Amino acid sequence: MASKTVEDVLFPGIDVRVERVSDASDILMVEVVSTARPGRCPNCRKQARRVHSTYQRTLDEQPLGPRRVIARLRVRRYFCDRKSCSRKTFVEQVPGLSERHRRSGTRLTGWLRSIAIELGGRPAARLCQRLRLAAGPDPTAQGC
Ligand SMILES: [Zn+2]
Repeated sequence: MASKTVEDVLFPGIDVRVERVSDASDILMVEVVSTARPGRCPNCRKQARRVHSTYQRTLDEQPLGPRRVIARLRVRRYFCDRKSCSRKTFVEQVPGLSERHRRSGTRLTGWLRSIAIELGGRPAARLCQRLRLAAGPDPTAQGC
């Protein structure tokens, strides 16, 4: 039986996994990471193998009642291992999210609205629970 995951609902057409949902009094933070394979060096097209570092990028934020919903993407920077390549590292591009020159996030606004609808007035713990159920047991999951 094909069932939709939370990611399918919240991030249609985008290959991301929800890593963490943090629920503070005035902010609901949803952190996602790309599930796409490591990209290729934009300079020499070599397939990346090693992660250099990661950083958090705020994708969007929307008001939700008195609170704000903030979506963050964990972006990975990769090494280019080709010695002759002048580019030592590069940042992954997440199709649908972090492509350069992409026009502003209609889709993001859409999924943030979905989060708002999912949540209704309920505590985010419920959403957390749903994310867990959808994702299955994941020992690396934190924050829920
Ligand atoms: Zn390269």
